Amino acid sequence: MNNDIVVSISTTLGKGAISIIRLSGDGCIPLVNEVFKGKDLTKVDSHTINYGHIVDKDNVIDEVLVSVMKAPKTYTMEDVVEINCHGGIAVTNKVLELLVVKGARLALPGEFTKRAFLNGRIDLVEAEAVMDIIDSKTDKALNVAVSNLSGNLSNLIRDFRTSLLNLLANIEVNIDYPEYEDAEVVTINTIKDKVGEMSTSLNKIVKESMNKKIIKEGIDVAIIGKPNVGKSSILNMLIGEEKAIVTDIAGTTRDVVEGSISLNGIMLNFIDTAGIRETNDVVEKFGVEKSLEKMNEANLILFVFNNNEEITPDEEELLTKIKDKKYIIVVNKKDLDKKLDLSKYNLDNIIYTDTVTDNGIEELKNKIIELFNLDELDNKNDLFFTNERQITLAKEALSILDDVKKGIDMEVPVDMIEIDIKKMWTKLGEILGENYDEELIDQLFSNFCLGK
Ligand code: GDP
Repeated sequence: MNNDIVVSISTTLGKGAISIIRLSGDGCIPLVNEVFKGKDLTKVDSHTINYGHIVDKDNVIDEVLVSVMKAPKTYTMEDVVEINCHGGIAVTNKVLELLVVKGARLALPGEFTKRAFLNGRIDLVEAEAVMDIIDSKTDKALNVAVSNLSGNLSNLIRDFRTSLLNLLANIEVNIDYPEYEDAEVVTINTIKDKVGEMSTSLNKIVKESMNKKIIKEGIDVAIIGKPNVGKSSILNMLIGEEKAIVTDIAGTTRDVVEGSISLNGIMLNFIDTAGIRETNDVVEKFGVEKSLEKMNEANLILFVFNNNEEITPDEEELLTKIKDKKYIIVVNKKDLDKKLDLSKYNLDNIIYTDTVTDNGIEELKNKIIELFNLDELDNKNDLFFTNERQITLAKEALSILDDVKKGIDMEVPVDMIEIDIKKMWTKLGEILGENYDEELIDQLFSNFCLGK
């Protein structure tokens, strides 16, 4: 296994009280010792913190505390050294440079965690949870990530795998030694029961996961509508700050302005969009296309109308495109005379607003809470998959379980069923990162931040 010495600044580089430079890999302790004045780090006990100075020949660069942690009880399961420097940018970079000159290589993003995974200390679900913890923006998201890092989900999957292995072992014994009385007799019914239980349990988790993806990722909200209906004003009121630029000239919200609020602990990510009007203006047109694109990406569409204007053909057309999405129709400028008539379109979720007097914004928020059941969203003691990779694999596993069930119903020979059970065992292993694909692993860890 390649465990050359990698080094990285593990804290945010900037002015701060301390910066931590972390190294991992065979020989990182003697390497640091070469530039350390204080105790001989190669002789100190593991998991000790040692006071001294980082020196470049006779030049003292910084006064530091150095933690020495010997393999295997470390984050990466390799020798790890952490140098606590004073938190200046120049000092930290100087120490880093010195270590690179001495032979350490700059770590890639996520490389420490990747090593923890490759060296078997954590599985892939746990590695992803590390990333989720860093990315968590709300308490709810953090709770899920922490639960996954503590291995709750991994343990359940391991339990599934163990019971599949037991099933396989019993099938084998039954086939090879039918006379062996101690072995549990695996009837087709036993397999059916076990597979059924697993399928129900996994199915429940997958369903929960799809619902609760929003705990982690939040809800992407696209605010659409023709120019000048009050999209920016509504966004501003929801966000509570002057983020989007409100103007009187139609079609000036050209760029997609994003802002977020937390609603019942869930992030609402607003994507303010340009008007939907057809236009020859190049910049505006770009904005229009982007809006439609964003609308397709969004989990919720706020379609804003002007109460004071009749519906346009563009708006009518767009109404047909939102029907299979979660949407709220926002009829703005309710302070002005009513000229808009939506009665013949058979729409749900209509909210009337008036951004001049802040009217209707609470109703709008409540509607969002209602549409996504945010009041009932709770993640206590729940297990669920937290990303597309895990959910996709779990769904594939479920479809294999379906094959097993179908096979049983069609009375296919037991050795055929055995093949599917083995496939299922492998698929669940993939969730944990066993039999991983190198490229996928590289891709996954490259999303981490540097020094993690
Ligand atoms: P956008 O182009 O859809 O983003 O619309 P803006 O938010 O820029 O608003 C366009 C104009 O309508 C601005 O002059 C706002 O002050 C005005 N406006 C926005 N909301 C209301 C409202 O509820 N009532 C009235 N009377 N005017 C509004």
